[in-house]
Amino acid sequence: MTDTRAPRLDRLRQAISEAGLDGLVVSAPANIFYLSGFRGSAGALLVTSDRALLFSDFRYRLQAARQAPDWEFVEVPRRLFARLGETAAEAGLQRLGFDPAHLTCQRREQLAGAAPNVELMPADGLVEELRAVKSADELEAIRAAVALSDQAMARLVELLRPGAVERDLALEAEFLMRRAGAEAVAFDLIIASGPNSALPHAESGERKLAPGDLVVMDIGARKAGYCSDMTRTYAVGEASAQAREIYRIVYQAQRAAAAEVRPGAVCRELDRLARSVIENAGFAEYFGHGLGHGVGVEVHEAPRLGKEEERRLVAGNVVTVEPGIYLPEVGGVRLEDLLAVTEDGAETLTRSPMPPELPIV
Ligand code: ZN
Ligand code: ZN
Repeated sequence: MTDTRAPRLDRLRQAISEAGLDGLVVSAPANIFYLSGFRGSAGALLVTSDRALLFSDFRYRLQAARQAPDWEFVEVPRRLFARLGETAAEAGLQRLGFDPAHLTCQRREQLAGAAPNVELMPADGLVEELRAVKSADELEAIRAAVALSDQAMARLVELLRPGAVERDLALEAEFLMRRAGAEAVAFDLIIASGPNSALPHAESGERKLAPGDLVVMDIGARKAGYCSDMTRTYAVGEASAQAREIYRIVYQAQRAAAAEVRPGAVCRELDRLARSVIENAGFAEYFGHGLGHGVGVEVHEAPRLGKEEERRLVAGNVVTVEPGIYLPEVGGVRLEDLLAVTEDGAETLTRSPMPPELPIV
């Protein structure tokens, strides 16, 4: 990965300089992994115009050499951010950026105490902006994660029947994905049946599936550090007219928005498009979350496809399109695909079938 990561550092250095900084402290694990390849649980990066340093402790020395061979490793037994501050001061940095969302007050004090003459400047989102545009290698990792969740979804559909327990289905999907090579699940898998399906972020619990249930299955795998994310909704045994209706509406909203994903599309207008389908059908108040989100090293990252998001999509973005309708006490429907924005449109990465009419098993 050495060669593929070098351009990221070049782009970050450009962003650091454009932000009026001469260095950046990187403390969020996802950003550390993205820039350096290091996957240890303790560490921080210091990036300057001519140096790239990885601070961590003895436990990670060998791992750092293997995962981040191009980074200068600085072994720090304790008070890592004080040492990082000393290094910044010795390097003569004047304006050092840090991400306020990811640096605790305690660590900031360590930094400031060790570098009294270095001005600490809040600088959030510099690395996240780079992460929003995927390279070919990253896209390949996401495809591998998607393939794992597609396989698991096919198996889940076979296992749907009255009496099946939500938690068992979630465990089965996790086991299948991990045995097929996933490093982990991308998030706590959601198998939500009956009234539980009306909770957008339900926990998979002890409930047994019953005839007439809607079952929302939201699953994702992590592979080579990258996530997948997909949702399908099925009915067990039978389905009410209302369940069929909300499924049809969510399907139309999903397709309408997915068809407009391309470079230049404004995120909030995509949300608006899907939302208007649901509003026009009379279910406005039952679609309470944003249309989608970026997926990569983290399962939720930039860009957000939300009501307020004015940015435009660019080639290399990977986003979900996942409208839903959630009727309290009754049940819900969510349909989620993962799309890669290409030079002239979009490619749907998820392959699991999404029928236009509510599928009943
Ligand atoms: Zn999802
Ligand atoms: Zn999602």
